[in-house]
Amino acid sequence: MRQFKMLDFNLNNGESRISDISSLYHEFLGGTAVATKLLLETPESLDPYSPDSPVIFAIGPFNVAYPIATKTIAVFKSPLNGNLGESHAGGRLAMAMYGAGFHVIRIVGRAPELSYLVIEGEKAILKTSNSLLGVSALATERILREREDSDYKRSIIRIGPAGERLSPIAGVTVDSSRHFGRLGLGGVFGSKNLKAIAVSGGSYWKIENKAAYNSFYKKIYDAVVNSPVMKKYHDLGTPVNVVPLSRINGLPTRNFSQGSFEGASGISGETFAEKHLSQQMACAHCQVGCIHAATLRERYSSDDHHYKTFKVSYDHELIYSWGSNLSIQNSESVLKLLLMVEKEGWDAISMGVTLAWAVDAFNHGFITEKHTDGLVFSFGDSSTFEKILRKISEGKNEFYRDLEKGSAFCGKKYGGLDYSISFGENEAAGYSTGLHAFLGYATGVRNSHLDGAGYSVDQENLRKPQTDEELTAALYREALWRMIPNSLVICLFARNLYTKEFILEGLEALGISGWTEEKLDFLARRVHSMKFDYKESRGFKFENLNLPKRLLNTVTSNGRVTVERFTCEIARFQKMLNEDRKLLSVQ
Ligand code: SF4
Repeated sequence: MRQFKMLDFNLNNGESRISDISSLYHEFLGGTAVATKLLLETPESLDPYSPDSPVIFAIGPFNVAYPIATKTIAVFKSPLNGNLGESHAGGRLAMAMYGAGFHVIRIVGRAPELSYLVIEGEKAILKTSNSLLGVSALATERILREREDSDYKRSIIRIGPAGERLSPIAGVTVDSSRHFGRLGLGGVFGSKNLKAIAVSGGSYWKIENKAAYNSFYKKIYDAVVNSPVMKKYHDLGTPVNVVPLSRINGLPTRNFSQGSFEGASGISGETFAEKHLSQQMACAHCQVGCIHAATLRERYSSDDHHYKTFKVSYDHELIYSWGSNLSIQNSESVLKLLLMVEKEGWDAISMGVTLAWAVDAFNHGFITEKHTDGLVFSFGDSSTFEKILRKISEGKNEFYRDLEKGSAFCGKKYGGLDYSISFGENEAAGYSTGLHAFLGYATGVRNSHLDGAGYSVDQENLRKPQTDEELTAALYREALWRMIPNSLVICLFARNLYTKEFILEGLEALGISGWTEEKLDFLARRVHSMKFDYKESRGFKFENLNLPKRLLNTVTSNGRVTVERFTCEIARFQKMLNEDRKLLSVQ
């Protein structure tokens, strides 16, 4: 049986332990399934910022072995909603964990002072890093790359100042422009005094059946490089969707008050490519390279002509949250804001949507110039948004300190909760395509658009109209099935290339036998259900799911959404989950 190992590291005392978790991988495949199983072992009442609260990174059996199996899963208790925190990131981390010899790295404790962890093979050493206090997420990587030389390819993950300030919407930046963005992993790192982790190593496994491995590798490689969908991701990247979404009323604009943005062409994928694109990058072992980076110059001061040059990555979610949703139609203005977000280390979606809430809250009188230190908030005013971000970074006053706690927190404290476009406290991603996008955010195990792809279900309904019941069933099926690619751990852009048949062949070629289509389906149900076990035992209730009132007036790609339809489909989703749980209990 192939061996899988876990590194446990305790930040309290710098002690580490290595254990064999092959049986867990044998039963749960890997990635999100294994990580969830481990997270379920933690006490229900743990505070997300308690030293005992673990951060678990997990990869799967396909990482390193096959194309586009590039992601790493991070699970933790979210400081944003006190519930399941799960975030996925690409970059080099999966490859580096594999090289170090670990499929899981679990971290607990709190370092006595700001520190970073260096894992090189089986050696794990905690080093103090007070000189990195307040250093941006961008500069931290550069400094550590020089300071922590390695013979192997490294991955460096780190927080910016927002994480150090325990912002529950701070993320963890991974290598060049990848992020564990959602649900506050950066704040958890900050609470552990953990500025960064550098991972490297040179382990490789021996391929037993080279003929089977090579044969499957060629098939999946050909599927990836010949796929027209993948070509689209490489060419303009996900920003290719900006204009088409706006045309169908699916591009959230001015805090989701409408789905069509008159300035969409100014922030389209084509505009970014023509004016700013300087590099397309890829996660390690990806043949697609969907990461798009722009070059942005920043002037040192207004008195002279000296500039710094930065690479700023952009994608659909970033363009929506800092472009259309704030009514900014100038691509350079979007990039300037994104650079500030990247340096501080916030989750770009959450911070952008929180500023959109702030504009609505200001316009409706919930906050005034007393709160804003004299600034007048309005949509489209990018220079004021830059000032707001500076004031948040400086912790200018209580209101600005609160802005980095997310829109739901602010809506509850200052009023205007109806304008907080969040589900499970997590700010929504960039689709206002209809009921099933909103249903997907609400019922998703991590409140992510990627949980069940409701935005895609809505768009399918435009092509081939179906009943709400049929569409909810499609959303549920997708949410279940994604437990498998997230356990393997494949980039979801390649989800349709890795068919069940391919997955079984790929596992067999790695010497991981005994899997069947039925077993994969069973595992998908089991893991999905385990995640809801975790959520419900930490206070989640379907009955508490609400549609933010602002969305009742939004004309989406599929027309207006009503509370009645939303509530009815939530109940239907819950019923399907409960039926699965009954089945699981008798199997
Ligand atoms: S398609 Fe993009 S996100 Fe997915 S693995 Fe490739 S570069 Fe990374």
